[in-house]
Amino acid sequence: MDENKNSAAKELAEKLLLDRAKPARAACLKIAPKAMDFAEGYKDFITASKTERETVDWTVAAAEAAGFRAYVPGKAYAPGEKIYYNNRGKAMCLAVIGKSGCKEGVRIAAAHIDSPRIDLKPIPLYESSELCLLKTHYYGGIKKYQWTAIPLSVHGKIVRKDGTEITVNVGENEGDPQFCITDILPHLGKDQNGKKLGEAFTGEDLNVLVGSLPLDEEGEQLYKLNVMKILNDQYGIVEGDLISAELEFVPAFKAVDIGFDRSMVGAYGHDDRVCAYPALQALFDCAAPEKTSLVVLADKEEIGSVGNTGLCSEYMNYFVSDLARGEGLEPQHVWSKSSCLSADVTAALDPTYISAYEPGNSTYVNRGVGIAKYTGSRGKGGSNDASAEFLGWVRRILDEAGVLWQIGELGKVDQGGGGTVAYDVARLNADVIDIGVPVLSMHAPFEVISKVDLYSAYEAFKAYFEAK
Ligand code: MN
Ligand code: MN
Repeated sequence: MDENKNSAAKELAEKLLLDRAKPARAACLKIAPKAMDFAEGYKDFITASKTERETVDWTVAAAEAAGFRAYVPGKAYAPGEKIYYNNRGKAMCLAVIGKSGCKEGVRIAAAHIDSPRIDLKPIPLYESSELCLLKTHYYGGIKKYQWTAIPLSVHGKIVRKDGTEITVNVGENEGDPQFCITDILPHLGKDQNGKKLGEAFTGEDLNVLVGSLPLDEEGEQLYKLNVMKILNDQYGIVEGDLISAELEFVPAFKAVDIGFDRSMVGAYGHDDRVCAYPALQALFDCAAPEKTSLVVLADKEEIGSVGNTGLCSEYMNYFVSDLARGEGLEPQHVWSKSSCLSADVTAALDPTYISAYEPGNSTYVNRGVGIAKYTGSRGKGGSNDASAEFLGWVRRILDEAGVLWQIGELGKVDQGGGGTVAYDVARLNADVIDIGVPVLSMHAPFEVISKVDLYSAYEAFKAYFEAK
């Protein structure tokens, strides 16, 4: 073999070809110590914030501590001022006013704070075969079998007939009871085993076990009555009050380190609080950006961004429009110059299910925050598809700031797909791109992310807010 020829090819390859793995490996090891520290705060956050309401509560407290104040409509804000808008306790806009205000557009990182879970039906409580259970209606895209036989906690709100409100959180604290959805034992699983996975578990099978003792009286429905009596003693509610309730059953797990090397975090609801947290931290650490910078926390993404707390609602538009008008600007002119990182998770390549991925265009654990030019399914349907110009700019600012990032698609072209809030924001004529942390076991009750990727997301959002 000609040695000179060989080294010339190597030199040319280094100059011309994209090596995704090797540089990422070096960068990953370099930022790993910082990433380990950063993840400690994240684990506390995600354990305490399991629902959209709890995430808003956490964020309001953290934002207040970071100097943010509730937005007052009509008030003029000076550069450097920090404000937030709480939309019905389920969604938020937070902003740091930039030196040039909104004049040259605003910068937004938008993440969603709802996650797949088990909601209740309006009349959920029933007894059957001497057990007391709750009928449920699942929320978001779940593989139903994953939600059986795991410990669940219940979170949410009940509005009583007289209008008084009760906040519920049972199953998270030491000593709390927990709940579960039962599954058939393998010994009797013959019928279930013969079914296709997607048909073996139905929505009507997802019944939550909540009691097994009857009321110590003679009469009817004593099992149901016993549970209702406990709820009445504790919360002062009657069965009818469950009609005006939002009670969400979620996995009762706490966030934990995964792996002997502690490089990953396992938890419920990384999607998409694993993007909300670094976006918030980046905004909190952002002193006085050139352009007004926002973090938007959205609800209802998992069911199509619907409702007045989802990004199909105008709440983000109204907030930015208010800021624009406060500076004497037309909102549409501000939007046309604005940009948004649609901060949502992407799929990390899973070697066990590698046939679903196209390895050359997948995102990998520990290669940094993942950018997706487009999402969607069946030929980019339902995606935003960022422009080459905007992606070029994002790539440049991340590289200049030394951020570890990667690009990829969700999986093989015809394998499926998914959407994000990207097109809801792009509708306002802003430049939008998807960027987020790669996740293993996405939408499972227990999802896994890498600490390096989480920290890279923080660095990416910070670079974005601070870029000229
Ligand atoms: Mn998501
Ligand atoms: Mn999702």
